[in-house]
Parts: sequence; C-alpha cells; structure tokens
Amino acid sequence: MKSENRKNWKLNTRLNHPERISPIPGNPPLLAPIYHSVKFVVSEGTPYWDQFIYGRVSNPTVRQLEVLLADLQNKEDCIVLSSGIAAITGSMLGLLKSGDHVITFRELYKPARIFMRDMLPRFGITTSVLKLNQLDELEQTIIPGKTKLIHFESPTNPNLDIADIQRIIEVAHKHNVLVSMDGTFAGIHQHTDFDIDLMIHSLTKFANGHGDVLAGSIAGKKSLIQQIRQMTITLGATLDPQAASLVERGLKTYQLRFERHVKNAGKVAEFLNQHPKIKKVFYPGLSTHHGHELAQKQMSDMGAVVSFVLDSGLGMNADQFAHKLQLIQFAVSLGATESIICPTHIFFGDDLGPVDKEEMGISPYSLRLSVGLEDSEDVIADLKQALSL
Ligand SMILES: *Cc1c(COP(=O)(O)O)cnc(C)c1O
Repeated sequence: MKSENRKNWKLNTRLNHPERISPIPGNPPLLAPIYHSVKFVVSEGTPYWDQFIYGRVSNPTVRQLEVLLADLQNKEDCIVLSSGIAAITGSMLGLLKSGDHVITFRELYKPARIFMRDMLPRFGITTSVLKLNQLDELEQTIIPGKTKLIHFESPTNPNLDIADIQRIIEVAHKHNVLVSMDGTFAGIHQHTDFDIDLMIHSLTKFANGHGDVLAGSIAGKKSLIQQIRQMTITLGATLDPQAASLVERGLKTYQLRFERHVKNAGKVAEFLNQHPKIKKVFYPGLSTHHGHELAQKQMSDMGAVVSFVLDSGLGMNADQFAHKLQLIQFAVSLGATESIICPTHIFFGDDLGPVDKEEMGISPYSLRLSVGLEDSEDVIADLKQALSL
C-alpha cells in the first residue's frame, strides 16, 4: 500500500487502512498463516487470474491444503470443498451434462446414493445402480458413448464390503469411462497406487480427525480438477481458510492417529468376534470377513470402523444397546478421536427397500462402531458391560 500520505489521513481513513506487516524475506513463519482476507490487492505485473483475487475462487491457505493433499495421494492436483458431499456432487456436476449416464452401487454413502439415483435424473443424467458384488454386470451396464463415470466406495458403509478396484478400473477405462472412488473409510494414505481418475475423501473424518471441521477433497488430473473447479466456484462450495488450516493441522498427526485407530479397532473386532452375544462382526481385518482376502491385497490398514449384529438372545435392539454404552457415544460420523456408535437402521437405509436393507445388513440389531483413540481396554470394558445384562 502506498502509505506516504498516512499522516494526512483522517481517523476513519486510518482505521480502514491499517499498515500491513509482511514477513521479512528469509524469515517466514514456520506454520502456514491463515489468510482470512476475502480480497487480495490486484498486482500490475501478473495476469489477473494467476493471482489470488477473491476468496471464493482461491486463497493461499486453502491452496496450501490442496497442494499437500495432491502430493500425499500421488495426484497431479486437488480441490478442497466445504464438505465431503460437496466433493461428490461437485465432481459430478462439474464433469457431467444432460444426456450422460453414470453407474454406481447400492452400497454407497446415503446422501451420495440419493444424489445420483434421485437428483441427477432431474438434470437429464441417468444412473444405473448395481450391487457391489454384481461386477460381472458392470461391463454390460456401460452404454457406449453415454456412460461417463463409475462411482464407488471401498470399504463401504455399514458392512465394510470391499470393492475390486482393479477390476472396476479395467472395465471403465476399456470403455473410456472415468472412475471416481470415495475412499473415506480407508483414509487418504490408501489406494494411492490405483489409476483412479477422481479420488474423493470426506476430510471431516480421519483426515481432520477431530470432529470439528466439515471438508471434502477431490484429487486427480489437472484438467479434470480444473473443470470441476469452474463448477464448484460457481456453486459456492468453497472451503473456509480457517477450516482448511484446521484440516492441515489435523493431518500432521494423521499417521499416528490412523495407526492407533487400526490397532484399537483390531482388538475391538477380535473381542466382539468371540463374544457369544454377538451374532456377526464386519471388519476387513478379520479372516472371517467376506472381503478379507481382497482387503489384504488392496489395503495396508483395515481402518477403524467395525460393524456388528447383536444376537437376538441378548434381548436388546441396537438402539437400546447404544444407549447402554457409557464411554462409547451414540453419535454419527467416524474417524474421530472418540469412539462413536450408531444403529445402522436409523441413518443408513431409510431410502432402501426391505430386501436391499436385509442384503446390506441394515437391521434393528446392527450397529456401526468407529473406534477412537481411547485405550482399547476401556472401549472393550464398555462393550462388555453393555453386553452383560
Ligand atoms: C461422511 C461421508 C461422506 C460425506 O462427507 P461430509 O464431509 O459429511 O459431507 C461421504 N462419503 C463417506 C463414505 C462418508 O463417510
């Protein structure tokens, strides 16, 4: 700012144009600053749209998180948005147009399933919904020239089904169809070697990890991210710089947290698996899990979500059980420092018919537990007390 005239300015002018302090070259802050400013002063030298201009379009704090996430996931570029679901909807609205066809799977985060199945058709985009174990039908579901995208999750909610990622990619790419994967349950460090066109994460979960930020990310080729960015800027799903900074802070302990999450979840899964009042446990790390073999091939860590079904002999349904727990909190979401549990039938399947619900293991007796960072002995003790009537 040209401030030679400062001393001549009157009070209201000085109040609104404070002296700006910039870091001394060679003396930067060790941690990235949070740039709250919505506006940046436009420079004469550089093309305007290579500069930071307006906060909805770009911001250095937000960009720093994008660059970090692209790097961590071995992708050319990344965009962060105001929630995980904004990443899912934004990627599709950014890349698809009326007349296009997309394929997804029943075993999907509910709002994503509702968006693809019920909302995209309003914009002339049709959706086929397969079952994740119906990959034999994937190729014949592709409509040449119309199918643009296959979207899936792995592991899935709530029963931790494992998608055969390589198989999906091979079928899709053979027909020039893009693949987008929601890898939230597995975390940002997994599946990075697969040729997935769009890797989506709800950063709200393990990445931020502390349950105090909503955020989402899409990583992929520069050209695809650029196309998505044009749409999401216009939709206004921008991530706030304060939130971006919190996610970046959360990421510093990501690996430490994830290791502990997985260790604790493994112990909890083993405990539940041998308990006579538990009918069935779903955790990819258990050799009894239906996706165990594939998970071992594809994943380095089995995550922290453990789902299980109460034995009817227990005399309690999932809601009663969740309320009986004392340490483990009855709450939605996952990948948090606290252990949280929710009955599957309340939140995950009310848009599905009874057969789909049953096949997906959504019932009044099943629960999804996200194991936190407490001492696993205390978590197990809490489950034990709730199981002993
Ligand atoms: C939570 C979640 C989302 C949505 O993320 P938000 O940040 O809550 O919008 C998407 N996919 C999966 C698998 C999730 O668990």
